Amino acid sequence: MLGTTVLVVGGGPVGLTIAIDLAWRGIDVTVVELRAAGEPPNVKCNQVSARSMEIYRRLGLAKKLREGGLPADYPIDVVSSTSMTGIELSRLSFPSRNGRLAGEKALDSSWPTPEPSHRINQTYFEPILFAHAALQPRIRIINRTAFESYTQDEGGVVAQCRNLDTGETTPIACNFMIGCDGGASKIRKMIGGNFVGTPEIQRVQSTYIHAPALMKLLRGKPAWMYFTLNPRRCGTAIAIDGKDNWNIHNFLYNGEPTFDSIDRDWAIREILGVGPDFHYEIISKEDWMGRRLVSDKFRDRRVFICGDAGHIWIPAGGYGMNAGIADAADLAWMIAAVIGGWAQTGILDAYEAERQPITEQASQIITDVALKVMKQRREVPPEIEIPGPSGDEVRAKLGKQAHELEIGQQCAAGLNFGYFYNNSPIIAYDGEPHPGYSMTEFTSSTVPGCRAPHFWLSDRRSLYDALGPYYTVIRIDPVVDVSSMITAADRRGVPLFVLDVDAPEAKSLYARKLTLVRPDQHVAWRGDEAPNSPLELIDLLRGAAGTHMVT
Ligand SMILES: Cc1cc2nc3c(=O)[nH]c(=O)nc-3n(C[C@H](O)[C@H](O)[C@H](O)COP(=O)(O)OP(=O)(O)OC[C@H]3O[C@@H](n4cnc5c(N)ncnc54)[C@H](O)[C@@H]3O)c2cc1C
Repeated sequence: MLGTTVLVVGGGPVGLTIAIDLAWRGIDVTVVELRAAGEPPNVKCNQVSARSMEIYRRLGLAKKLREGGLPADYPIDVVSSTSMTGIELSRLSFPSRNGRLAGEKALDSSWPTPEPSHRINQTYFEPILFAHAALQPRIRIINRTAFESYTQDEGGVVAQCRNLDTGETTPIACNFMIGCDGGASKIRKMIGGNFVGTPEIQRVQSTYIHAPALMKLLRGKPAWMYFTLNPRRCGTAIAIDGKDNWNIHNFLYNGEPTFDSIDRDWAIREILGVGPDFHYEIISKEDWMGRRLVSDKFRDRRVFICGDAGHIWIPAGGYGMNAGIADAADLAWMIAAVIGGWAQTGILDAYEAERQPITEQASQIITDVALKVMKQRREVPPEIEIPGPSGDEVRAKLGKQAHELEIGQQCAAGLNFGYFYNNSPIIAYDGEPHPGYSMTEFTSSTVPGCRAPHFWLSDRRSLYDALGPYYTVIRIDPVVDVSSMITAADRRGVPLFVLDVDAPEAKSLYARKLTLVRPDQHVAWRGDEAPNSPLELIDLLRGAAGTHMVT
């Protein structure tokens, strides 16, 4: 029997992220994964959100990730057009990686974050995570191995895992197991979780192509994403290597009930806007169903699910994987706190209480946008391709619509920074309501449960770089005495770091003199002075209290 502290099932982006986070916190982790070592995933996700990049910054990985993906001078523009080579209707301009570094402005330049979103395909992103994880002495990755079943009792979990090459089954004993085994998760089913929502919204034929001649046919500056609108076939094309390789999504309509209802080659040519003599090769095909499903359960005692295992939806706004990365950032420190001995297992109740409602909200917000996009695609009038004033009028109207829909998806500030945990057993609420958020809108706030507003410290460091690995009290008035909080934390062994800040921005963003921030950068408590019962607060933070209100 093998032994490990935490067993992660599935070495996709979410499994690798939680393994890296746990190892960073000194926990031994084993990852079992069906694929061979370093085998790339399918060409799916293209956007690592700003919030995810903040998480990778904490783990020391942001720089490495930014160096991967598209060429450094490739523009990240998003264009809507009648076809890839057709008439441009609208354009969202985003700088290339080099442009960002040189200070070029974009629609998201004012976001309060040290890490803007990063466009990188999963086929580049995941191998960087894998290589980093494989180097960590505390992570053991067992490839070509299938998790099959588990049992658990008060002492731990034993998982049965089968080597795909030899057929041999090995039991792996662990304290906790995390199922990051994707949308078809066995572990979700085994913990008794059911996907609830809409199982079928739209079928999509996805084809990854090699088309070296395409770049020369594009009109104007090349873009990263093309959103094509014509009455025959609408689609999306995404630059994968910034040279020859593109992923083409053909969105099937009602009345096209199977993935093969539509001739793939014909549809690709309509989306590209090329004739029958244009040459391209298919690298791979991955047809998928757009759904909106969230599990009604994220945990059974010592077993948890994260990422697509817990929720899947149409990737409008590029947010599926990013929600899974946020799950990982939420759960990793809680498990580490229990293993570290300073938190009680009650802290683990917070995971489902926090992440289940947020992923349900994200699924609704994203599906609303996806339905609007689907509607636009179904209503494209033939005039869109007619030269002259009548065509111009239709193009202007649809271009404006597409522009607005794209801004929502490419600048989803609310999805990144607006969500808050409003019913957590380990957050001390103070009665002030949380500010609402939408896909694009949010209000920076220190209401407990919100993401601690980011600002730059007087020495130009990011606030997030100055936080401790676990809890941090941000003090904007150095006169306020926090010694009773430190004593209480020491008594319970809770790692608590005090950060004095004097940046002028802090006073406008932080409504109280003291703000207690968690390891995942969400606010856990705030006040103008130390609480009357600091031990009660500390017990609440470490999952050892039943009350939410701390005075
Ligand atoms: C076309 C498309 C575009 C997308 N674009 C975006 C985007 O821009 N931004 C975004 O955030 N998201 C996007 N997504 C969603 C994103 O790809 C997924 O959310 C992400 O891959 C989920 O990561 P995961 O680690 O949870 O699961 P997966 O990536 O599915 O990984 C699960 C892993 O578990 C392994 N596994 C499964 N069963 C077992 C088992 N029994 N034993 C051992 N290992 C097992 C699998 O081999 C796999 O490696 C997109 C999805 C699609 C389809």
